[in-house]
Amino acid sequence: MIDEKGILFILSGPSGVGKGTVRKALFEQSTDLRYSISMTTRAPREGEVDGVDYFFKSRDEFEKLISEGQLIEHAEYVGNYYGTPRQYVEQTLNEGKDVFLEIEVQGALKVRENFPQGVFIFLIPPSLEELKDRIVNRGTETEEKVKNRLLAAKEEIDMMDAYDYVVVNDEINHAVKKVQSIVSSEHCKRERVANQYKKALEE
Ligand code: 5GP
Repeated sequence: MIDEKGILFILSGPSGVGKGTVRKALFEQSTDLRYSISMTTRAPREGEVDGVDYFFKSRDEFEKLISEGQLIEHAEYVGNYYGTPRQYVEQTLNEGKDVFLEIEVQGALKVRENFPQGVFIFLIPPSLEELKDRIVNRGTETEEKVKNRLLAAKEEIDMMDAYDYVVVNDEINHAVKKVQSIVSSEHCKRERVANQYKKALEE
């Protein structure tokens, strides 16, 4: 048996870009990815199920998890805690299965520090792509307008630096296909495949 760890994929991006929608659409299709269900202190929304959508925790319970080191990252977002359980992620990766996280940007940066070998995917809104095209093609908008939008977009563009891939969420199905392609490509990486063969030969 080849002892090979799974790959950790992290989908993140600016607030409101549609990370959750892309993640749900991805998992509606057949996939070998394991979704890591997050912990949160926010109240369940209608239809949300504990242990399926999130593990819903009180603030005290969540702070205990933090102090015990049970989360690989956590962030406070709009007044609520969100965090990724360490045991599930580490155990699943050790079993050789890929793990998929869908988290906001502060948390993704923290995962990057602890799992530099993870594959970081940044989802961007189509407005950012359009903005780039407009600037490149010198469209009809006044320079002033473009400048203002560019300033607003700068923060998002700067965030990209911490990621390996950028996917435009122009249409959910397109974005899902791109994420699936990234997963396939990562499994074809020369160093990963070569290592597996080398280990097999040693055995
Ligand atoms: P919502 O409350 O709409 O379900 O999620 C709000 C935000 O929290 C989304 O951007 C989602 O990606 C992010 N999020 C969900 N789980 C986690 C997590 O475990 N850690 C971090 N840092 N963010 C999370």
